[in-house]
Amino acid sequence: MSKYIDKVLAEVKAKNPNEPEFIQAVDEVLTTLGPVLKANPQYEKNAILERMVEPERVIMFRVPWVDDKGFVRVNRAYRIQMNSAIGPYKGGLRFDPTVNLSVLKFLAFEQVFKNSLTTLPMGGGKGGCDFNPKVSPHTPGKRCSDAEVMRFCQSFMTELYRHIGPDTDVPAGDMNVGAREIGYMFGQYKRLANEWTGVLTGKGLSYGGSLIRPEATGYGTVYFAENMLAMRGETLEGKKCVISGSGNVASFAAEKLMQLGAKVMTLSDRSGAIYAPDGLTPKMLKDIMTLKNVKRGELAEFAKKTKAVKFFAKANSWQIADKIDAAFPCARQNELDAKDAAYLLKHGCTLVGEGANMPSTPEAIAAFVNAKIMYSPGKASNAGGVATSGLEMSQNSGRISWTREEVDAKLKQIMKSIHDNAWNAAEKYGDKGNYVMGANIAGFTKVADAMVAQGVC
Ligand code: NDP
Repeated sequence: MSKYIDKVLAEVKAKNPNEPEFIQAVDEVLTTLGPVLKANPQYEKNAILERMVEPERVIMFRVPWVDDKGFVRVNRAYRIQMNSAIGPYKGGLRFDPTVNLSVLKFLAFEQVFKNSLTTLPMGGGKGGCDFNPKVSPHTPGKRCSDAEVMRFCQSFMTELYRHIGPDTDVPAGDMNVGAREIGYMFGQYKRLANEWTGVLTGKGLSYGGSLIRPEATGYGTVYFAENMLAMRGETLEGKKCVISGSGNVASFAAEKLMQLGAKVMTLSDRSGAIYAPDGLTPKMLKDIMTLKNVKRGELAEFAKKTKAVKFFAKANSWQIADKIDAAFPCARQNELDAKDAAYLLKHGCTLVGEGANMPSTPEAIAAFVNAKIMYSPGKASNAGGVATSGLEMSQNSGRISWTREEVDAKLKQIMKSIHDNAWNAAEKYGDKGNYVMGANIAGFTKVADAMVAQGVC
């Protein structure tokens, strides 16, 4: 590693001692950039790394709202506007009690490289709040009601709206922020700004949403896996897959894997993991999607009613099946550790496609890279979601809408470009097949060149 990288990493650690996730994300990227920094001394001269690790702006605000019993509740929210060198800030909003500055800065940092990889003009940002829509503040065992979620979203947007805009910052969904929350926030933005613009993506189809956007992250993750397999002359047909999560990304990854002839053996949530040795059926997946998205229930309930699946309470998806060809972590950060990686490798896994952001710990990543299996980091393989958000922005600006087939074809093409750019960058800088290095370098170079061209800002 270069002295320049060492220096910047030391500064990041000293300046942000309480931000472990952010430090982890920065470390993961910077430690792979040695060759490109050596070949391009202008990056160090222009302090590109120092500027990239410092958000352009961090907004922190309180969100007061009234629950159904009339009590005032207060949450803490943020928007991290990380880097706008190549386009307006773009990145999701997460509502979860685990949201804090470190988690959002890590996500915003990752987003800069991911958005650059999509080939579309989007900068990087991320936001969210420590609000938990899954836990009622007054009735144990219940969730927040729709009315509470609406009042929360309206209050959240009442502050956020002054910091965003279709050419400034375009948020989208993330954990616990789906069509319902985007709808409430869009309605409040429209009311406050008195304009109808594509300021949020992930909108409903009847008001500017793009076909395939809900499916895009999961589908894109699987398309990326197809591209990796194609380099080895393989396909997904018959592959035994394990997936974590059962939310947006996991369920559509499962759907696409099934369509392509793979066997989906596991899904998980906070209650535990389900295991179907012969693979879940499309009907089971549909029931799970209804349970999670409409009834807002848990996999434990599904397992009770379904004989063909076994349930492992409070377990993750990794150490259950005996024979595994491919793993798709699609739930949350740091959900797959060194022990899980060792189990996967021992049980035949030759492909790991990350649908979530930073789901594998550094030790797990090292195990996959050292084993030279097909391992795609989230910033490359889950970029289909934000890429399709970019397509939604284009459709909104042009007041047009593309068909499902058109958007899917564009998504497939973008995932191939991301794959090929990462592959080519890794090859060019001497580590063929290393998608971690390739994705980081390909994403970094475009942003770094734009920053150099725009002067010190
Ligand atoms: P969802 O909220 O729809 O789903 C998250 C899933 O992860 C749920 O099944 C949830 O379980 C599970 N989960 C969350 N925390 C835990 C935990 N502590 N233990 C066990 N399971 C847990 O989110 P998404 O599918 O949208 O996002 C998943 C990941 O993908 C995140 O890392 C996100 O940043 C990333 N991502 C999402 C994109 C998108 O377009 N949505 C785009 C790119 C990346 P439960 O239902 O019980 O809460």
